[in-house]
Amino acid sequence: MAAGEFDLIATYFTHRYPTRGDVDTGVGDDGAVLQVPANSELVVVTDTLVEGVHFDHYTPARAIGHKAVAVNLSDLAAMGAEPAWISLALTLPTFDDEWLTGFANGLREICDYYQCQLIGGDTTRGPLTITVTAHGFVPTGKALRRSGAKPGDWIYVSGALGDAGLALAGMQQRQKITPDYQRRLNERLFFPAPRVALGQSLRGIASSAIDVSDGLLADLRHILTASQVGARIDVDELPLSLALTESLSEADAFRYALTSGEDFELLFTVPEAQRGVFDTVIAHAAQKPVCIGRVTNDAGAIQLLYAGEPWSFPADAAYGFDHFQQPTAESET
Ligand SMILES: [Mg+2]
Repeated sequence: MAAGEFDLIATYFTHRYPTRGDVDTGVGDDGAVLQVPANSELVVVTDTLVEGVHFDHYTPARAIGHKAVAVNLSDLAAMGAEPAWISLALTLPTFDDEWLTGFANGLREICDYYQCQLIGGDTTRGPLTITVTAHGFVPTGKALRRSGAKPGDWIYVSGALGDAGLALAGMQQRQKITPDYQRRLNERLFFPAPRVALGQSLRGIASSAIDVSDGLLADLRHILTASQVGARIDVDELPLSLALTESLSEADAFRYALTSGEDFELLFTVPEAQRGVFDTVIAHAAQKPVCIGRVTNDAGAIQLLYAGEPWSFPADAAYGFDHFQQPTAESET
């Protein structure tokens, strides 16, 4: 990279971003100066995307820009927070105008949609790596956490699971998918929609929440550990897309839904006493959360049921899911 090109990079990120009244000083000084609303707490999350680990050469630059923000807003959603600001640390191997334009567009579009202002950044030369830190607000004491689930609470997921994992498997030729389904699934993988509005509406209603980044069972386990409870999951209640069910056997569809990550749906628990309020809150939601099971007092245990009967992953070596976690480690009862 020629001298001076680094200075140019900043220009990709200074135009047409939303501006907010709570930013006294944004990009351009040594630090940002920001106003946190009265009676609110600041929630801060950070996530890194590394080429070859979180995305690859087949990932469009615009998708990388979108996803770098989306995964952070998904964490804010899981905390019940309203997004406000992001900062960006970008490590680039070369100066590439086309890539930077696509990346900056993807970043700006999602910031625009959620009225998030870019308040700072840093650029370094090295292997392609993107770190975004996002800041959001919750009314004091109202943040959602992983630790509040109680036996008897109902377990919900905000939308279809397994699509992003299947999209990746299709692109890597590990699963045969029609071009039409592949296109639809790629939208889920490349442009995940963080459940920001839902997360905020769950304040005071959900007893625990997490976003599904690593796979339903892996993320459920985080709630169970933090809350010291167990869970019963009805696999026949899992929300599945048509693209998923039409492309896979039923057992494989369940396996993707339970173990593949990156769908960025919210997984949360609702106490019986809050269920009426919850039903009212989601009555007009564009996408209704689905009840997939119940919290049990069997700490750490996940019980999988199909039509009320115990269910486990078929012990079939031909499945070729070796890139996923071994199901036996996840399905103990
Ligand atoms: Mg998370």
